[in-house]
Amino acid sequence: MQMVFVEMGYEMNYNKKDMEILAGIWNKTGDGSMKCPQCGGKMILIQIEPIHNTENPYVPYDTIIECTSCSFNVRAESFMILGSVKDFDLHHIEIGSWSPSGSRVLSRYEHVLNYDLLKKLKESGELVEFLIVNEHAVQVVG
Ligand SMILES: [Zn+2]
Repeated sequence: MQMVFVEMGYEMNYNKKDMEILAGIWNKTGDGSMKCPQCGGKMILIQIEPIHNTENPYVPYDTIIECTSCSFNVRAESFMILGSVKDFDLHHIEIGSWSPSGSRVLSRYEHVLNYDLLKKLKESGELVEFLIVNEHAVQVVG
């Protein structure tokens, strides 16, 4: 998946309906491919600017996911988190990571990831980056 980082004066408003649309954009192949629900075209994710929230151990970004072929787009909040898979089931994943002060943090998200990929990552304990969009783990990077 192509990721673009830009800074613009977008005004963000995302909601639950957008997340339902988003969940349908990702297919559970684990390769992070996204398909436009309107035209079937390729979607790209654009992180616009950081949302300042001192409680988070990571930096969330205002995000737009848009079709490269038509005008369809969804607004969201996204961030990357480095960690390992501690546990998972068909709907939820627990990611073990670290806070800025170095203490262990366990985070739980809904996910749209491939079951076999998660099984492999849990067994190996490998450190990878997860792309989290609106509290959903949607892609494993690296
Ligand atoms: Zn489209």
